[in-house]
Amino acid sequence: AFRSDAVPQAPEDPLFGLMAAYRKDTSDKKVDLGIGAYRDDNAKPWILPVVKHADQKLHEDPNLNHEYLPIAGLAEFTNASQKVLLGVDSLAIKEQRVRSFQTISGTGAVHLGALFLAKFYRQGQEKAVYLSSPTWANHNQIFTNVQLPIKTYPYFSAKTKGLDFDGMIDAIDRAPDGSIIVLHACAHNPTGVDPTQEQWKQIAKTIHNKNHFPFFDCAYQGFASGDLARDAWAIRHFIQEGFEMCIAQSYAKNFGLYGERAGCFHFVTGPASDASETANRVASQLAILQRSEISNPPAYGARIASLVLNDDKLFAEWEANLRTMSGRIIDMRQKLKAALDKMGTPGTWDHITDQIGMFSFTGLTEKQVLRLREEFHVYMTKNGRISMAGLNSKNFEYFAKAVDQVVR
Ligand code: PMP
Repeated sequence: AFRSDAVPQAPEDPLFGLMAAYRKDTSDKKVDLGIGAYRDDNAKPWILPVVKHADQKLHEDPNLNHEYLPIAGLAEFTNASQKVLLGVDSLAIKEQRVRSFQTISGTGAVHLGALFLAKFYRQGQEKAVYLSSPTWANHNQIFTNVQLPIKTYPYFSAKTKGLDFDGMIDAIDRAPDGSIIVLHACAHNPTGVDPTQEQWKQIAKTIHNKNHFPFFDCAYQGFASGDLARDAWAIRHFIQEGFEMCIAQSYAKNFGLYGERAGCFHFVTGPASDASETANRVASQLAILQRSEISNPPAYGARIASLVLNDDKLFAEWEANLRTMSGRIIDMRQKLKAALDKMGTPGTWDHITDQIGMFSFTGLTEKQVLRLREEFHVYMTKNGRISMAGLNSKNFEYFAKAVDQVVR
């Protein structure tokens, strides 16, 4: 018989544990570089001005109610999401090869795709999901929960603190034909290291040659470079190359809608004559999975995003807000690197400015990370990752000095 007292204790989520430790710290010097959430120059959460405007507009709508959304979510939202991601002129959209479901943010989108693949991908055949090493920790849990076997491909070179491109290509090339390859569309988490466009082309070729199936996770579009099209370049290239694929899209970071859980899952079928009917069948199965998981997605965040995505003026304001966030982070990268260079801190720090997006993989060791926490009240994950958004004009020098001390 089942006995609940036989359930083992699970480890605490490392990131949320770190947040709790930060909150408990009473030092006025403390610096939070843990969680990947944007902060303004006063270390405060930032409600995007465009989100405030959309919110006002939303509340002026006399027809607003709390009815259920459809199973696939708000259609204006999912349609606009396709265009943001794939481009307004996307052939895949024109040929009706894209089916989209509103999800519980990016996490829910990865999960819905994982669930679908576990059920339908190469049924009865060997299959495995290849994740970058390292990757967003939740990828492991999500794909494991649906019983898909996990393998990894090399991604980060500890030596160059950049991309281990040869290692990555080699592993993808050696993976059994028809493997699922999970790719970060931009601003790789946790390393901040992205392939160049030339490298993406080669990755696409290798995946094509091996008949692999790409699964893009896009959690930082527009937040990385400040340019929505640029951050979606890899996805659009793969679509052009005719791949079938899954895409998970999150609006947590680029709209600052973290807790509202606005996101989208897209399935794109390849350019065949019956692609649209195939897409319909896929969508019919996704609808059943979605129904059993969440019935229908939450409305508020999607309504906000939809208002912005479907209004030219608000859309332009959103793009400006994206440039504000990405610009401040890029500025912090430059200031941090300059401060370390100026002190002659041992090591090279080019990777701080070469890396992109929310995170930087500093190369600090676990021992150094713990010393930073204990002696300097600086909170970051043990793998040496820092959330760049936690740095601001008031604390970057303090942080640079602390780093200088622990690496000497
Ligand atoms: N994928 C990656 C790589 C991420 O970094 C994140 C955000 N931490 C997500 C997905 C999804 O986050 P959310 O569910 O908040 O959209």
